[in-house]
Amino acid sequence: MEKRVVILLGPPGAGKGTQATRLSAALSLPHVSTGDLFRENKAKGTALGKKAQEYMDSGKLVPDELVLDMLFDRIGRADCAKGCLLDGFPRTLPQAEALAARLSGAETRALNLRVPDAKLVDRLTGRRTCRACGNIHHISHSPSKVEGKCDKCGGELHIRTDDALETVTKRLAVYREQTLPLEGWYRSRGLLSEVDGDRNTDQVFRDLERAASAAGVS
Ligand code: AMP
Repeated sequence: MEKRVVILLGPPGAGKGTQATRLSAALSLPHVSTGDLFRENKAKGTALGKKAQEYMDSGKLVPDELVLDMLFDRIGRADCAKGCLLDGFPRTLPQAEALAARLSGAETRALNLRVPDAKLVDRLTGRRTCRACGNIHHISHSPSKVEGKCDKCGGELHIRTDDALETVTKRLAVYREQTLPLEGWYRSRGLLSEVDGDRNTDQVFRDLERAASAAGVS
């Protein structure tokens, strides 16, 4: 069977992480998040984690060569032999080009989650992430049952350093400058599906699943 690669595109706060967890199970594809991989490296204190930290904390993108080495190492592992679901990658045109070269022949589909700018700031600054399992809550849209504790595992909820308002503003500007051009890149190759991300998570999930199967990658 051909390799299947599903790419979740969209600005920070569009819901990529939340949807990726469900979509990964539905499509039987491992969820590969470059943001999570960097955070794991940071937590373990690796050389890569230390290099990435200053970029992440200020809302900038980590340089392409660091991202590509880490990503290619991850998708080269056995669990990705049949494909993967990419969340937060690619984020620049050179990353998209490098991925296409690496995966030539794979069945690829980019799903673009659209959410109005005004909603993104609220989603990101109100986000509370579990330190233990990465589950995401929101103080008003998806509050945890017990304040400060994750509903899934009981772990401690915290505000990601880069979800502070100042950093969020920077991340959105970086997205518009460096990542938005990827929409055109995938559209012009006939590989893009648009999904309205400004609805409840179940509706968005159904559309993502439908778009992936219409494209033959489910
Ligand atoms: P995320 O969890 O996807 O929002 O990623 C958190 C941070 O990790 C980003 O703000 C970047 O600093 C860094 N990062 C994650 N993925 C990439 C990527 N594909 N290219 C460059 N930097 C990335």
